[in-house]
Amino acid sequence: MSAELREAIRKYALQNAALFGGKANPKAVMGKVLAERPELRSRAKEVAAAAEEVCREVAAMRFEDICGAAESIDPDLLKRTKCERKHVLPELPGAVEGKVVMRMAPGPSGPLHVGHTRVSILNDEYVKRYKGRYILRMEDTNPDKIDPEAYSMIPEDLAWLGVEVHETVIQSDRFEVYYDVARQLIDLGKAYVCTCPAEPWRHMKEEGRACPHHGQAPEEANELFDKMLSHAFSEEEAVLVVKTDLKHPNPAIRDFVGLRIVDSVPHPRTGTRYTIYPMMNLSVATDDHFLGLTHVIRGKDHLNNTLRQEYIFNYLGWKQPWYHHYGLVHIPDSILKTSTIRNGIREGEYSGWDDVRLGTVRAMAKRGIAAEAIRNYWVDVGMKDVDIEFAWDNLYAFNKQIIDPVADRYFFVWDPRAVEITGVDALTARSPLHPDHPERGTRDHDLRAPIMVYMNSEDLEGFKQRGTVRLKDLCNLRWENGKGVYTGNDHSVLREGVKIAHWAPADGTEAEVVMPDGMVRKGVSERLPPAENGKVVQFERFGFARVERTSPNLLAYFTQ
Ligand code: GLU
Repeated sequence: MSAELREAIRKYALQNAALFGGKANPKAVMGKVLAERPELRSRAKEVAAAAEEVCREVAAMRFEDICGAAESIDPDLLKRTKCERKHVLPELPGAVEGKVVMRMAPGPSGPLHVGHTRVSILNDEYVKRYKGRYILRMEDTNPDKIDPEAYSMIPEDLAWLGVEVHETVIQSDRFEVYYDVARQLIDLGKAYVCTCPAEPWRHMKEEGRACPHHGQAPEEANELFDKMLSHAFSEEEAVLVVKTDLKHPNPAIRDFVGLRIVDSVPHPRTGTRYTIYPMMNLSVATDDHFLGLTHVIRGKDHLNNTLRQEYIFNYLGWKQPWYHHYGLVHIPDSILKTSTIRNGIREGEYSGWDDVRLGTVRAMAKRGIAAEAIRNYWVDVGMKDVDIEFAWDNLYAFNKQIIDPVADRYFFVWDPRAVEITGVDALTARSPLHPDHPERGTRDHDLRAPIMVYMNSEDLEGFKQRGTVRLKDLCNLRWENGKGVYTGNDHSVLREGVKIAHWAPADGTEAEVVMPDGMVRKGVSERLPPAENGKVVQFERFGFARVERTSPNLLAYFTQ
């Protein structure tokens, strides 16, 4: 083929491959080429052969390289592709390369779940774009809601998600900082110690009225705060309140609690050393300031908090970060609640935080969902402020783009039935590990009489009824006297309507695939090499699964 023809084809082959998960369709490529160069129509045969060849070459390239090569020819080629994902998020106002500081601030109540992945990834995307700094801030100022293991599980989950954390801050290391801010607010006359019972205080706020402590002089407030710190009050007897505007149209914004007493539960890290705990608005505003946050991206559920935190920033003359609040995400069909999961684990209902029935990040990893797919999903959803429902199917589509080009193919026969094959002494099957990548080699099976294979029970029923079947890559059979009689190995029978079925060799391995609902599909599979451990494979006609172990029997988790 001429260099010129190759070039014309390569452009569209790269584009097509970038659009379809790394694999270009030669027919589609040819269509594009002929549309652009009608003079080539008379050479259609030659173009078709060339398209086949170029598409094969492109398929052997890494996905990222495909995207890069397409982009270098013409950035517009990727307009509709997912490789464009790195550029679809809008620029952040005021972002200066090297100066951006962003964060993820989870409460360590358990590992991360799918709901946390949006905030984790969006912030990470921007930090990477602007070569900034990513802070992981453990917001552990509610001792009631802490799982000590979460301090290590959260960083593990972030690492798996590909989030690059530059600094980790734990709020329970910073009590003195919060107390200091409380003192400053008191001194400015912007905070008071309230000993009203909670309900009447809330009621007064709703009516826009000040409680009897609202007018406290700073000296008195400081004294009362000292008393709080020296345990003169116990839980719920006193709180430090930050003043806002009692006439604020939104009652939720009127005076809010900045610090409270918790002396009924020790803190897993600090024990009973500190019993005055900041509430999140005080600790978040304080830390966002002192840690130098430039941009904060978080969910719309924090809108009121932003308004409350603004008061603290203004009182203390701090510069606020730039905020963006994305829409709420409803995640259907997922078990996410930490307390439910923890109880379930304790009671033996779930095998652990990575039980595949759960919506945790570690469960997704175990199932073979690629971190890159989760990232692509959220970048694609973007920053919009409309509420959305998490679309598992879209995530699976992104995941397929990643796993399909790399997953090796194998046969797994669920609900297996043994079938004897007669009329032949020896059969050989050479099945490609990947149909689009012959260069990766084959799985070879040499069967000798007496030949026995496994078929899925339904496939076997169909075979008996129709009287014929083709076992993929092996041979054609006719049903006779309770056996499969060899009738050759000609693919053309498929054109005559003979159905194709998959099979497993008699020397295969017992296999179990755990489904996302916890059900276990039992059967027989080909023997997988140990190199497949931990990888996602495709069990033909069944689906993708992540291999947990290949011996002594096969265990895998269904992906999609
Ligand atoms: N720890 C809180 C949360 O996880 C605060 C996060 C924030 O202020 O963005 O929702």
